[in-house]
Amino acid sequence: MKVILRRVTKTPLDFEVKSDEITFKGYLEYHKGKLILLKANLQGFIIKPCDSCAEEFKLPVDEEIEFFISDGIYEDEESIELDVVESFDGNADIEELLHSEIELIKSDYHSCERCQSSYTEH
Ligand SMILES: [Zn+2]
Repeated sequence: MKVILRRVTKTPLDFEVKSDEITFKGYLEYHKGKLILLKANLQGFIIKPCDSCAEEFKLPVDEEIEFFISDGIYEDEESIELDVVESFDGNADIEELLHSEIELIKSDYHSCERCQSSYTEH
């Protein structure tokens, strides 16, 4: 799903995309300047290898995500620290954003339930 950024208005534009066992559901809303606010919930499971025993497991995910998409280069005019993703083609590719969120979660340290329970026993 691709959204043309300059068509996003103050009226929230709902979206819902799925990837495997993850649902990315939320909306886009015009903020100001070049910025579009993205607010969404990421829910489901991510299959990833356990960082302790390397066996694949289902990691439950339930996260609230909020960041801005800049239509073009983002210049920090107000020197407020915002979480901004720049888009250079005027589009927001929701699947791509979902994919990078998943990669971000995968890159964190996660161990499977078995490793977690054996860890607490020690
Ligand atoms: Zn493990």
